[in-house]
Amino acid sequence: MPDLWIEIDLDAVKHNYRQIKSKLCAESSLMAVVKADGYGLGAVPVAQALEEEGCCAFAVTRVEEALLLREHGIEGEILVLGPSDPEEWPQALAKKIDLTVSRLERIAALNDTARELEVKAGIHLKLETGMGRTGFTREMLPALAQSLKESSYLNLRGVYTHLARGAQRDKVYTYRQHQRFIEYISILEENGINIPRRHICNSAGLLDFPEYHYELVRSGTLLCGHFPSPAFFGKLDLKDPWTVKAKIVHLQRVPKGTFVGYQSVYKCKKDTTLAVIGVGHADGFGLEPKFVPQGLLDLIKIIIKNIAALFGLQLGRDKLLFKDKQVRIAGKIGMQLTVIDMGDIECQLGDEIVVPLRRTLANPRIPRIYKKNGVICTKRVIKEGILSINQE
Ligand SMILES: *Cc1c(COP(=O)(O)O)cnc(C)c1O
Repeated sequence: MPDLWIEIDLDAVKHNYRQIKSKLCAESSLMAVVKADGYGLGAVPVAQALEEEGCCAFAVTRVEEALLLREHGIEGEILVLGPSDPEEWPQALAKKIDLTVSRLERIAALNDTARELEVKAGIHLKLETGMGRTGFTREMLPALAQSLKESSYLNLRGVYTHLARGAQRDKVYTYRQHQRFIEYISILEENGINIPRRHICNSAGLLDFPEYHYELVRSGTLLCGHFPSPAFFGKLDLKDPWTVKAKIVHLQRVPKGTFVGYQSVYKCKKDTTLAVIGVGHADGFGLEPKFVPQGLLDLIKIIIKNIAALFGLQLGRDKLLFKDKQVRIAGKIGMQLTVIDMGDIECQLGDEIVVPLRRTLANPRIPRIYKKNGVICTKRVIKEGILSINQE
């Protein structure tokens, strides 16, 4: 066992998948979003586990992510959500990977590539309804329809849009996005386009807008055992598949008054045991995305959290645990080493500490160990840039 590793419980992922399925409307099916390396869990083992569970549609952001899934035997449909480069198209088409198209000139170009390769290119159209990122706007739709009708090598498999404020309490913006979505779809239909599947919901939409499920729902966050925001807690029985563990690699008993770490920001208030674990900023530990407070209440929460941190208190879920007891960081987190103030808790070299590490920020080089039916089934390591996934 290495000194730092991540345990991923694939049974929890499967459980979450079944929970989500139970919420879906009858005509709808689930597209599992496993972008960004499966939100850090590992796209390949997660997709494999979901395929065992009956999942037959996956989504990622980039063509290279889709190819990785195919290389590892994922057979279900795979949709690339982000923009793709024409240079990647031949490979994607050869592997039956569906592409999102959100620019008019790409329709004819992709059709040409598909014709040259004598294959049909599966595509989804992305509509811009309020995310302000990618997609066709209203005035582009008649030309889009015309171009599609001239492209016999394209197979339109779906039309979708993405919610910007699905996780927010105020639903007005989402209603408006949905209205546009419906309107744009009818414009396409009036212009002779037959639309097989419509999809608008992400995880938040799935929970809050059953009437928007249509033929497909795209969910990633829920599969990973998280809710899109605290407002959703308890709406589904989810299990967290993610545990980061670090071994104590150094231990010492120190007297009261000992300074710890860079800038000596931490001073031991009494005689204590200091444990060192091999995790730090380079592993993604202590990093957080920059939160923009949503309103005054949110701002106050963020301020309180930061003031608490000043006194060494971790609020929320960001707790380090030793045998279910909360322990705290002493001083600043280092690049790859962090000191823990164990107080008078008995511990030994090699004992495990559970570390709060954000899934999407966890360094992919940290080995992942996958468990199924309670036993280790797969190990994943990246050494010198090379990914290896080994079944046990
Ligand atoms: C990430 C993403 C999703 C999944 O969102 P979750 O909230 O994680 O379920 C769905 N659709 C698109 C276009 C995305 O980028």
